[in-house]
Amino acid sequence: MRLYNTMSRSVEEFESIEDGHVGMYCCGPTVYNFAHIGNLRTYIFEDILKKTLKLNGYEVRHVMNITDVGHLTGDGDDGEDKMNASAKREGKSVWDIAAFYTDAFMNDISRLNIDRADIICKATDHIADMIEVIRILEKKGHTYVSGGNVYFSIDTIDDYGKLARLNLDELREGARIEVDSFKKNPKDFVLWFTNSKFKDQVMTWDSPWGRGYPGWHIECTAMSMKYLGSQFDIHCGGIDAIPVHHTNEIAQSEAATGLKPWVKYWCHGEFLINDKGKMSKSSGEFLTLESLIRKGYDALDYRYLCLGAHYRSQLKFSYEALDHAKSARAALTEKIKALKAEAEEASELHSENAKKYKMEFIDAVSNDLHTPQALAVMHSMLKDGSVSSAEKLNLIRFFDSVLSLSLDRIEKEERVGSDEDIALLNERAEAKKAKNYQRADEIRAILAERGYSIKDTPNGSFLVKNL
Ligand code: AMP
Ligand code: ZN
Repeated sequence: MRLYNTMSRSVEEFESIEDGHVGMYCCGPTVYNFAHIGNLRTYIFEDILKKTLKLNGYEVRHVMNITDVGHLTGDGDDGEDKMNASAKREGKSVWDIAAFYTDAFMNDISRLNIDRADIICKATDHIADMIEVIRILEKKGHTYVSGGNVYFSIDTIDDYGKLARLNLDELREGARIEVDSFKKNPKDFVLWFTNSKFKDQVMTWDSPWGRGYPGWHIECTAMSMKYLGSQFDIHCGGIDAIPVHHTNEIAQSEAATGLKPWVKYWCHGEFLINDKGKMSKSSGEFLTLESLIRKGYDALDYRYLCLGAHYRSQLKFSYEALDHAKSARAALTEKIKALKAEAEEASELHSENAKKYKMEFIDAVSNDLHTPQALAVMHSMLKDGSVSSAEKLNLIRFFDSVLSLSLDRIEKEERVGSDEDIALLNERAEAKKAKNYQRADEIRAILAERGYSIKDTPNGSFLVKNL
């Protein structure tokens, strides 16, 4: 498997630190508003990455944070506290705001068939872990207190800015208008605020430096290392995270542990853009998944649209492009329905061509997640008369383990039986798992009496009404 590493600016052969296991951290959402479809593009890319790793035999430990401390969205203590602003606007508490938008985000990712992370960690549950990292940094001499806040001093390390390839001399020259006069170096950043210009701060915690709240970057350092160890394989996010957020995460993490590299592969997704440029949460110019669904699109039409572009290319959103994706997905679904009418069940791959398509698909996604090529392989395979319908069904299901377009959803929709029948069917599956074949057979007999036979497929069992 090959993966582009932002650190080296090149596509590298992927080798996990520990054989067969991958630790993957994805910067999660800020939850003071709905995710826009640009944010969701990034989570779709990360989902493809995770599923491709699994396809290549890796066991993946996937961690994602939830930034539920509203002010952690900028380095300076300027602008407004977004969580407070939303709370005021909506007449709710900041905690309610965070809970509401976290639920909305989880709902979005489930509609997009994005696998949930194995560990989803909230910043507000990990304040003690953040304080611990800051204490270590302080002990090692990487911090100073100025104007009531604790800063990370970038001059205490010799490779600050390596991910973004920042030219620090130029930056120093250019940084004449410095908003924070307490900083020794304009690129220093806050680890802990006690002196906030926000007067009505609700989310504050006690710390060795006084009551306050953490800086923007420390949560990802503290939580990723807590769940993945002090060095791990993959860290993901959108490209906007490179110059500041990820740069500062690296500085403080490597300074805290003394171990380099903190992360082996840095993977970043390009932006979804619109006529005005990057879709962004703070500008208020954004589309939600819900708004697309209300217009009659399926969430998976949007997923299909995203897969049609490589994750490292900008994708321009338009309804025309989404219409295209919608009709392509509909045509695909029709095709699969027809295949199902032709072939009772998926079969093993017998023909050389079927095996070739499988390899081509694996190669496409394993080559830095080339989903446009993977889709092309799928379309060619479906058109190829030398591959049997039963083989095609097998391949479609295999491809969909990564693409996750619910291409076999029709099968689910066609399932028959009352809730009680389905409960029996599920009980039979459990009985079979427990090797209780007697009970499994009994259930088969009961269902037969009710006029059903059971069809076992690689995707599970379902009922067929006897004629
Ligand atoms: P946020 O909730 O604002 O922290 O963003 C969540 C994720 O979406 C981050 O990884 C961002 O880098 C990413 N992101 C933000 N804007 C866009 C965009 N227009 N297109 C793609 N990804 C984005
Ligand atoms: Zn982060």
